[in-house]
This record gives sequence, C-alpha cells and structure tokens, in this order.
Amino acid sequence: MNTVNVTILGCGTSQGVPVIACPCDVCNSPDLRDKRLRSSILIKSEKATVVVDTGPDFRQQMLREKVKTLDAVLITHSHKDHIAGMDDVRSFNFLSKKAMKVYASPADQAVIRTEFAYAFGENKYPGVPKLDLIQLDEQPIIINDLKIQPIQVLHRHLSVYAFRIGPFAYITDANYISENAMKQLEGVEYLVIDALRKEKHISHFTLDEAIEVSRKIGARKTWFTHISHLMGKASDVNKNLPENMALAWDGMLISFDL
Ligand SMILES: [Zn+2]
Ligand SMILES: [Zn+2]
Ligand SMILES: [Zn+2]
Repeated sequence: MNTVNVTILGCGTSQGVPVIACPCDVCNSPDLRDKRLRSSILIKSEKATVVVDTGPDFRQQMLREKVKTLDAVLITHSHKDHIAGMDDVRSFNFLSKKAMKVYASPADQAVIRTEFAYAFGENKYPGVPKLDLIQLDEQPIIINDLKIQPIQVLHRHLSVYAFRIGPFAYITDANYISENAMKQLEGVEYLVIDALRKEKHISHFTLDEAIEVSRKIGARKTWFTHISHLMGKASDVNKNLPENMALAWDGMLISFDL
C-alpha cells in the first residue's frame, strides 16, 4: 500500500489573502484560515515528492513545509501566480546536482522560456535554475511510485491541466469542465477545486458552480481553493456549506491510499 499525502501549500487567488493594503474585514482577520498564499499543492508518496505550480510564494511554501527533496514540478498553466517562483527551484538543483523536471504544456513551456530566458541562454550566469522542460499532455505522468493523470479543463478560453491521482483530483483555475473531462473524474472521492468567490467571474468557478461540479462528480469530500478575499471569512463561509465541503486552508493535509 502506498499512502499519499497532499498538502495545500496555498489556496489564495492571484493576489493572495490578505491583499496588500486592503482595509476589508477578511484581509484584517486574525484567523489563520483567512491567510492564503498563492495556490499550489505538495504531493508526497513513499518514493516521490512533487509540487503542482511554483507561484510567487514557492520559496516560503517550501520552507514552511520543510521540503528537502523535490522530484518534479507540474504546471497547470503559465499565469504568473502559478509560475513566478520557479527561479527558486535552484536550491533543489544545487542539492541534487540535477536539473528540475518541469512538466508543462508546449504553450506553457514557451511562456516559461520567455519569462525565465536567463535559464535557457547559451552562456548562462552561474547559479541560474536548471529546468528540464518535459511535455505535458493527456498521457499519464509517472514519477517514481506516483502515477498522475493530467485532465484538460478550461479557464475561460485557456486550457489548464487538472491532475488526478487515484481517488484524488486537483482542479485549479477553471470555469468549464467538458463531458470528456467529467468522465475522467468519475470515482474521485477527494476533490480540491477552484472557487474564487460567490459572484460570477469570467474565468473561475463561483462557490455555487464549484459545489455543483463536486456533486456531479459525487466526491465524498471537497475543499475549495484559489479563494479571493471577496469570498468572505472562512468561519462564515464554512457555516453555510454542505457538511462534506469546506474552504481549504494553507497547510491542510489530505491523505489517501493507492
Ligand atoms: Zn491562478
Ligand atoms: Zn481585502
Ligand atoms: Zn489562471
């Protein structure tokens, strides 16, 4: 049996919560569940450690969770709040003496090559991150003892990858899931899904839309991520959610067996 531990490294939207200089009640709440770094998860099995997305808070997240080795990074899409911290994988490069495997779609690879051009040039400055870009498509990804199934979802018009590992699925930055993708999500018991806020948004699920998707999938437990300060305080929102659903919080752990 292989026990997999998924840690929520961050469950905030692109600005994080609190938002810089925001006077609202949520941003000034003392509740630790109202402090959200940018969205990312850590997946740890017996033989593999993987991070999904390297947002602007990647360094802080690695330090907080005391991550000592990292086998690979999976990129859902190349919006800044999901890739901005990639430079800091070099700490792992220095220890492992190897390039970091970064799984990204061809379109996202092109963005990474532009944003981090200094890591791909001919005469690189010493100490720049070593990134081994690997094609991410619909094929399962095998990292040591972990098998991860990428599933394409839509973030308005943009293709984003969700990831499924056995009974667990992680869907960030989405507002549309095709029938084909819904089929690939059949049987998921533990779901982490994008729910930006209560009001409609052009590229993210609202809380009600995310609840509906969770019900369609029939997940036993659902946690919402990529949360805006406009969602309200965690303690208020959680009171009105179905019993098997809650807002995620930074540092939260989900464990399951494969
Ligand atoms: Zn995002
Ligand atoms: Zn605020
Ligand atoms: Zn996005």
